[in-house]
Amino acid sequence: MSQTATLTDPTPQQTEHFDVLIVGAGISGVGGAYHLSQQCPGKSFVILEALESFGGTWQMHRYPGIRSDSDLYTFGYRFKPWTGAPIATAEEILKYMGEVIEENGLARHIRYQHRITRATWSSADNRWTLEVTRGDTGEILRFTTNFLWMCQGYYRHSEGYTPEWPGMDRYQGKIVHPQTWPEDLEYAGKNVLVIGSGATAATLVPAIAGACNHVTMLQRSPTYFFPGQNVNELADTLRMLEVPEEWTHEIVRRKILHDQEALTSLALAEPELVKQELINGVRAYLGEDYDVDTHFTPRYRPWRQRIAFVPDGDLFKGITSGKATVVTDEIDTFTEKGILLKSGKVLEADIVVTATGFNLSVLGDIEFVIDDRPLTFHETVTYRGMMFTGIPNMAWIFGYFRASWTLRADLIGDFVCRMLNHMDELGAHRVTPKLRPQDAELPVLPWIDPENFNPGYIMRSMHLLPQRLDKPEWQHTQDYWAEKDMLPAADLDDGCLVYE
Ligand SMILES: Cc1cc2nc3c(=O)[nH]c(=O)nc-3n(C[C@H](O)[C@H](O)[C@H](O)COP(=O)(O)OP(=O)(O)OC[C@H]3O[C@@H](n4cnc5c(N)ncnc54)[C@H](O)[C@@H]3O)c2cc1C
Repeated sequence: MSQTATLTDPTPQQTEHFDVLIVGAGISGVGGAYHLSQQCPGKSFVILEALESFGGTWQMHRYPGIRSDSDLYTFGYRFKPWTGAPIATAEEILKYMGEVIEENGLARHIRYQHRITRATWSSADNRWTLEVTRGDTGEILRFTTNFLWMCQGYYRHSEGYTPEWPGMDRYQGKIVHPQTWPEDLEYAGKNVLVIGSGATAATLVPAIAGACNHVTMLQRSPTYFFPGQNVNELADTLRMLEVPEEWTHEIVRRKILHDQEALTSLALAEPELVKQELINGVRAYLGEDYDVDTHFTPRYRPWRQRIAFVPDGDLFKGITSGKATVVTDEIDTFTEKGILLKSGKVLEADIVVTATGFNLSVLGDIEFVIDDRPLTFHETVTYRGMMFTGIPNMAWIFGYFRASWTLRADLIGDFVCRMLNHMDELGAHRVTPKLRPQDAELPVLPWIDPENFNPGYIMRSMHLLPQRLDKPEWQHTQDYWAEKDMLPAADLDDGCLVYE
């Protein structure tokens, strides 16, 4: 479906047109492509991916020990059985995704090293025009599409978030962010200081502790962890009984989701009970003499942030072996040799790893223009956490934080395909979310309620995110258990979506 464009650019170029254009070949984009190929077989589509290969997060992150923190029965797709241990390495996730691409003939739809820099919508033509830079040749290309499917993730891939601390410039050692981990970083025999308390720090510390002289995990405040064995007994039993893998996948998914729902409800109803259960789980590994109150007793309620699973308690084993230490304190300043803490204590280190999180990147750092007007994303209201008022023919896969991301990628995949087919039935070329008169009266709220979920990268970037109304149609609920029934049943003709 290619045609020669009439362009005003100095160098004439080819414009290719696709019915649907997917941004990004991470777990969301590849899932989106699968759903399109199954549910909208007549539609032409392409995935444009800035990197040299698929996988997104799992391609980008190269730090030692990188692994999922949710189980792959639910982080894996609904349609492709997961057959390994529940918690998987990046390599295993990439292998799984590679099989999805191979088994469904998706490779021919993916163009790597294609970074989209600008997306312009024209209501006169009912289409998007995308400016794309090729990473290998530097060429500028142009694509047009009827429907833009954003699967670009939610954080800036080029660099992680590192706060500015005083004295960083005088520190003589190396400062490294896990997101841009140097392949040749020599940490064997060194003293390493990991700043952070989240899933990344919890993964990295045990992964390098064996090789380092010593690893210190420095945290401002503690996080909840859920230690457990990296096995799923139900899956193992079903396999022993030679139940087909498709069934095992579905049954184990349902069981995990059932248990998670019970835990979420309990955490909301009885936060103190769940808090004590989680802390007791940690204490069981660290022993009665360890100061769990200081280092592993969070100040926030469970489920306000994602709870990291610690397979086989490896973080805690690192601590009890004496190879790793946790310090809960605040940084006063970097010194030449390490860090001076507010308590007056000094931590010396050859390498400082800043496991301090992400920079949120809304819309893949693409400049959006709608009918000659630059888009201010924050002024839009989200339609079910996937489309936005005033932005025609566009959807974004933004997964769950508390449940596995991919659960939502599958649900949105179904929704987008259903909507595209509905547009064909109506003969519509454009679909735009619009507040109905009864919605326009309601107060506009921030994208997410900090009482509900409040990780730092979201709180830092709320001013960049769309807004919501206190109604299921106009928010990203973060509630898989509600959305699994609500999204498939959502009325496409309830007036929230305007077809033209
Ligand atoms: C270390 C780590 C561990 C995680 N573990 C879990 C977990 O266990 N469970 C869970 O549910 N979630 C986890 N997450 C969250 C995770 O990011 C998502 O679950 C999921 O991988 C996101 O997939 P995605 O395809 O939406 O985005 P990404 O994986 O971010 O992929 C987006 C892709 O889009 C491409 N792209 C972006 N902008 C452009 C552009 N302008 N032009 C072209 N291409 C572009 C990127 O290059 C990238 O390949 C984790 C995140 C991290 C960082």
